[in-house]
Amino acid sequence: MSTRLPQTQLATHVVTNQPPPLENLNPFDCDQALIEMIDASDAVVFAEKLSAFGAQVGSAEVQRWSVQANDNLPRFTPYDRYGHRIDEVEFHPSYHELMDFGLGSQISSIAWTAPRGGHTAHAAMMYLMGHADSGVCCPFSMTYASLPLLRLNPNIARQWESLTTSGRYDARFVPAPEKDGVTIGMAMTEKQGGSDVRSNTTRATRVGGVDEYELTGHKWFCSAPMSDGFLTLAQAEAGLTCFFMPRWRPDGTRNTIQIMRLKDKLGDRSNASSEIEFQDAWAQRVGDEGRGVRTIIEMVQGTRFDCTAGSAGIMRAALTQALWHATHRRVFQKRLVEQSAMRQLLADLIVESEAATVLAFRVASCFDNATTDSSEEALKRLITPVAKYWVCKRAPGLVYEAMECHGGVGYVEDTPLPRLFRQAPVNSIWEGSGNVIALDVLRAIMKEPETTDVLLATIERSSGAHPDLDRAINLFKDSLLPAEMSEANARALVERCALALQGALLVQHSPDYVAEAFCDSRLRSDRALAYGAGKLEKFASRLIGRAMPER
Ligand SMILES: Cc1cc2nc3c(=O)[nH]c(=O)nc-3n(C[C@H](O)[C@H](O)[C@H](O)COP(=O)(O)OP(=O)(O)OC[C@H]3O[C@@H](n4cnc5c(N)ncnc54)[C@H](O)[C@@H]3O)c2cc1C
Repeated sequence: MSTRLPQTQLATHVVTNQPPPLENLNPFDCDQALIEMIDASDAVVFAEKLSAFGAQVGSAEVQRWSVQANDNLPRFTPYDRYGHRIDEVEFHPSYHELMDFGLGSQISSIAWTAPRGGHTAHAAMMYLMGHADSGVCCPFSMTYASLPLLRLNPNIARQWESLTTSGRYDARFVPAPEKDGVTIGMAMTEKQGGSDVRSNTTRATRVGGVDEYELTGHKWFCSAPMSDGFLTLAQAEAGLTCFFMPRWRPDGTRNTIQIMRLKDKLGDRSNASSEIEFQDAWAQRVGDEGRGVRTIIEMVQGTRFDCTAGSAGIMRAALTQALWHATHRRVFQKRLVEQSAMRQLLADLIVESEAATVLAFRVASCFDNATTDSSEEALKRLITPVAKYWVCKRAPGLVYEAMECHGGVGYVEDTPLPRLFRQAPVNSIWEGSGNVIALDVLRAIMKEPETTDVLLATIERSSGAHPDLDRAINLFKDSLLPAEMSEANARALVERCALALQGALLVQHSPDYVAEAFCDSRLRSDRALAYGAGKLEKFASRLIGRAMPER
């Protein structure tokens, strides 16, 4: 990591008191909370790999690609020069470099190719990408999460599984059999109803074999439209059904999927999101007819998990920038990091980031352990949406405060803060927006009470560690009383659950002072609402020392 000070001599004045550029930071090596979660998991065997990945993420090259891929937006080319419909999306070369870097590092495949710890290693890479570009994490995530669905249909798995897990990026728009590796997308949302996918009107007509259909209709959102195939939903004879729709038909002609336009988005700029229509597009059924939601929900669990890891990573990236700035900027004769109001704020942001990290990686362990441990499977069912709801909701506020730590320059595009800020809300909106996720948790608790028992057992392992944690656990239990279990209370239920769970996990996985700082500042009945008002003086030195990127 460089601490080189720029030597700038201008005619009118000398530039002083500006932080040196934060270059060649390894966001893995300086993230104690992440390292501890990796060390405590089966992914410890990947610690060196993750450190090498972190070094690349922080390198000037990957940082440059990230800026360029966001500054040069994807461009939609509907027709070729002769007027033929081609429906292609053109990306800046830096986008392709980022895709090649991520897929080549096995970000989408390691979970399915490693004997153990692969989901956690995947999550760690998704998290670390927060320090570079999160836009490419959308195709990384959908490709990762598609595997369980592709495997449901042996005809699909035979052709697509090895290509999906090849760890190769092949950007060519050619049929899958000619490619070294593929990416997969997911298109569920229609105009008349996104969360309510049962209102989908796209129709599927059986055309041959047992699993071949043609789909006609539209999708209002389809991210990464250059993917080689999409998991999608359409109405078949027996009801809403899941399908796999490749970009090319088996006879080698282009499938009839038209991109109508690209979305002009607030953030997530390097990633293309589109509106698409299909007319008699060839697709193969995945799962039974009429079981579309049941089938695709497994993929959605995977992408929700990635939203959590991604948001925790964005939080950590913003925090790192704030810590760096505060260390090098002097105000009123002292460095910012020495000013007690700023120390209070930084400590608070650190606590939030630690809590997000510990929760995200506890979910990751569930993904790794679920196949062999039924209680981990039950816990996964419940804490995936809880973590998705809470961590993704906490991210934008933290990024904004980290931006404010910089003063005016944090609002300027010269720093990564505006990009992080624009990116931060989307993880809460897609893959089930806040209310939908909260209602999903409510439903799981009501319909699958065994998941709640496992969750409570996980939380209560930390009972007695802190009086405010005990209070938070009791509050969460109160929310489980039948009279409280209503849709109107769903957000309150999930918030209480997330806070108790984060407190308990910090007790189990983190240094005492981190857990105590969390309980003192988050779980008290008189807890402050804004960051920096949480009375964390006694913890500030240790928290800041632990999180500081400079060692
Ligand atoms: C950048 C971006 C990329 C996307 N990419 C894709 C993609 O690749 N594939 C894809 O399929 N989709 C994609 N989406 C769509 C996204 O998943 C949906 O926008 C999201 O699921 C919400 O659906 P909706 O927009 O139809 O909103 P609605 O379903 O109309 O929901 C609007 C609001 O109402 C709330 N709400 C819904 N139901 C209830 C209820 N019962 N009670 C109380 N409140 C409720 C929701 O939480 C939300 O806040 C993308 C979205 C964005 C922003």
